[in-house]
Formats: sequence, structure tokens, C-alpha cells
Amino acid sequence: MLWRDRILRLEELILFRLWQLSLCLLLEVGGELMSRINGFVGRRNFLKLAGVGSLGIGATAAANVILNGEQAAAQQQSNTEKKPQAPKPVDPQAALTRILEGNKRFIEGRRLNPNQSKLRLQETAEAQYPFASILGCADSRVPAEIVFDQGLGDLFVVRLAGNVASDTAIGSLEFASAVLGSQLIVVVGHAKCGAVSAAVKGDPLPGRLSSFVEEIKPAVESVRNKTGNLIENSIAANVQYQVAKLTESSTILKGLVKEGKLKVVGGRYDLATGKFTLVT
Ligand SMILES: [Zn+2]
Repeated sequence: MLWRDRILRLEELILFRLWQLSLCLLLEVGGELMSRINGFVGRRNFLKLAGVGSLGIGATAAANVILNGEQAAAQQQSNTEKKPQAPKPVDPQAALTRILEGNKRFIEGRRLNPNQSKLRLQETAEAQYPFASILGCADSRVPAEIVFDQGLGDLFVVRLAGNVASDTAIGSLEFASAVLGSQLIVVVGHAKCGAVSAAVKGDPLPGRLSSFVEEIKPAVESVRNKTGNLIENSIAANVQYQVAKLTESSTILKGLVKEGKLKVVGGRYDLATGKFTLVT
């Protein structure tokens, strides 16, 4: 029995070893096979992620929207709905006439208060096409829309003490002219302008008050020896100086003027009568 048991155990051991060997071979061959399968599956997934195959159309459309941004979106929108066309820009001379007629209505007490309806409010919420731009003084007595009898979306208004053509003002007006299509800039000076008076006096000023005064001083110096009232002369000179500065220091505005797509004028507003008179 002892020998028989030993032989049986030996047979079991041999069988076990053979089984181990076959299992190893199977795993090796199977492993290679599995790696090939995995590689194939991986490639398919990669192709799908790359937008080729069944996912291709959707992925390409999405990429177009991302890459082309507004253009692709606008194209999609134009296919589904037609946007209302932007009105044609008002030419410089017609825009000036509109401004002067509005001021005439104001001083004669015939204001129309145009473009102030709820409909106009809704229209201008979508887009703006101001027909003219104003560079006026921040003085509370010279509100552009009232004194020129205009409404919502009509005027692109920049107001700073002394109606100075600062860098920020020029940038804003470049936007109005080059982007929004406004073809007229009106520099609006006014009687009894505190900023011009401060520039004439030339006293040291606290805080940042001197910032705009410095921008008026060259205009004051240009008329200091002129006969007549220095402050009145300076108000007119300041308007002319800021008009010149707008076109001389801005290549965008200068270019538009050259092309006939922009006119820059200036005038003086009288606080007592409300009348606006051109000085350039
Ligand atoms: Zn002023």
C-alpha cells in the first residue's frame, strides 16, 4: 500500500506540474491575444474620440462652433431666423442738421422728445446705431439728449469736465465711430465753464482736479494775449483745441475723416438761452 500511495502521489505531482505548464502557456498565448483585442478596442475608442466614424459629424460641428465662435453661431442663426437689418449710418452733414434742428426745437419750446417710447426701448436693447457722438462738458446744465432734443440710442455721449479729448474720451469716440458707425462728433463747450475758468486762473488744485485743467491749458495759452474776455475766448479756443486733438492724436478718427466717413465739429452752448452755436 505504501508504494502504491507513493506512486499515486507522484502521478498527482506530475499531473499537477503538467497542468501548471499548460496553464502558463495558455496565459502567455491568451495574454498576447487579449492585448491585441485591447489594442483594437482602444484604437476604436480613440477614433471615436477623434471624431471619426459615427461620432464624426457631431464632433466636427461642435469644433466649428468652438473654433469659429460667433461666425458659426451667426451662420446657424441666419439659417433659422433673419435678423433685422441695421439702419444706414447718417452721413456727417445730415447728422449735423439733425443736431442743429433738435437744438432749435429746444430753444423754441417745440421739443418732440423723439425715440423715447417703450418700443424704442426694446429696439435699442438689441443693438445701438447712434447717428452722432458728443464730447461735452460734464456740467449738469448741458445734458446732450435734452438740449439737442434726441432720444434713446440717438447719441453716443462722452461727458468730461471741460469737454477734454482725454485718452479715454478718444478711445470711446473711436468705438462710436469705427464700431457703431457714428459719422459725426460734436465737441460741445459752454458758457461759464468752471473747468475752463480754473485753467485760466492756473491756481494749484487738490486731488485730481488738475488732470482735466492741464488738458485745457494749451488752449488758454493760445488766446491769453488776444483782445476781449479771456474766459470767453478760452471757451471757444478750448473747443477748437479739443476738435483738433481728436483728429490729430487718433489715427482711427483721422483715417475716417480722410475717407469722408466722419466729420468733427465744435460749438458753444449758451446756458441762458440754450442756443448751440458752431465755432469751428
Ligand atoms: Zn463745463
